[in-house]
Amino acid sequence: MSSIRKAFVTGYPIAHSRSPVIHNYWLRYYDLKGSYERIGVAPEDFTAFIAGLKDNGFVGGNVTMPHKDAAFAAAAVTTERAKQLHAVNTLWFEDGVLHGDNTDILGFTGCIEQTLGRHWYQGVETALVIGAGGAARAVVTGLLGYPGLKVKIINRTTDKADDMTAFDRNRIETASWDNLDAEVAKAGVIVNTTSLGMTGYPPLVLDFSRCSKDTIVADIVYVPLMTPLLSAAQEHSLRIVDGLGMLLHQAVPGFARWFGVTPEVTPELREAVLQDLRERG
Ligand code: NAP
Repeated sequence: MSSIRKAFVTGYPIAHSRSPVIHNYWLRYYDLKGSYERIGVAPEDFTAFIAGLKDNGFVGGNVTMPHKDAAFAAAAVTTERAKQLHAVNTLWFEDGVLHGDNTDILGFTGCIEQTLGRHWYQGVETALVIGAGGAARAVVTGLLGYPGLKVKIINRTTDKADDMTAFDRNRIETASWDNLDAEVAKAGVIVNTTSLGMTGYPPLVLDFSRCSKDTIVADIVYVPLMTPLLSAAQEHSLRIVDGLGMLLHQAVPGFARWFGVTPEVTPELREAVLQDLRERG
C-alpha cells in the first residue's frame, strides 16, 4: 500500500459536503500523510465504485445520501449500530474485508455532550424528536443510550414515527403533528430532525411560550447554522444546540480508522467549517 492513505466521501450530489473541510483540516493539524477527496457517484454506479475501492488505493471513506442503504448492503461486516439503522456512513478495510459503521449516533451524542456536558440528560424526563427520517433514527438511538430518558416522536407522516417505536416499545411513544405544541410544552429536550428550517425549506415554528426555562432545543439542520427555530428558542432564553456539532463529531471515528489518530473537535475546526459555510453557502 502507498504511504499516502487515501479516503473519500461519496454521495449524489456531493458538492455541498463539508466532510473534506473537516478531514483535510485534521490531516494538516496532525501533520499526517493522507488525502480525503469528494467523489460524486450516481446510484447506478455505486456497486462498481465500491468494487474498485481497493484497486484505487482507498483505505475507506464516508457515504452520504442517497448511498447509505447501498453501503450497508455492500459492507461484509457491519456494527450493531449500523444494523439497527440499516444504514452505513463510514466504510473501512480490515484485513482486506470491507467494514461499515453508522457514526451519526455518536455525532449527535458527542455534540450534545460537548455543548451541555456529559450529564446533560439528568433531570430530563422526555425528549421530543420531530421527524422520522434517516437522521431521526440516529438521534433516537442516541437518546435511548441515556438511562431513563423517554422519547416521543412526532412526524408529518405518522406511520414512519410509529415504525420507529420498534426500537424500544417501553421508552418510545408517538403523537400526532396536531399535538406538536402541547408536546413541546412538556418536553425537556426538543430535537428537530426534519429538513424544516434548512435553506430552501419553510421554517419549523413551535410555541415555546409554555416551556420551562431549562428546556433544551437542538436542531440538526446546519445550513443556516442559526435556524429560525434556534433563534426563536434563544429569544425565549432556552438552551440551544446547533447542528454543526453533529457533523463534526460524526467524522471522528472514520478519521481514526483511516489515519490512525483520534482527532479532537475544537473551536478552530468549527470555525474552519463555518468559514466554508459562509463562503460557499
Ligand atoms: P430524510 O430521511 O429525507 O427525512 C426528512 C424528514 O423531514 C422526514 O421526517 C420528513 O417528514 C420531514 N419533512 C420534510 N419536509 C417536511 C415538511 N415540509 N413538513 C414537515 N416535515 C417535513 O432526511 P434526513 O437524512 O433524516 O435529514 C433531515 C435533515 O437533517 C436535513 O436537513 C439534513 O441536512 C439534516 N442532517 C444533519 C446532520 C448533521 O450532521 N447535522 C446529519 C444528517 C442529517 P415525512 O416523513 O413526513 O416526509
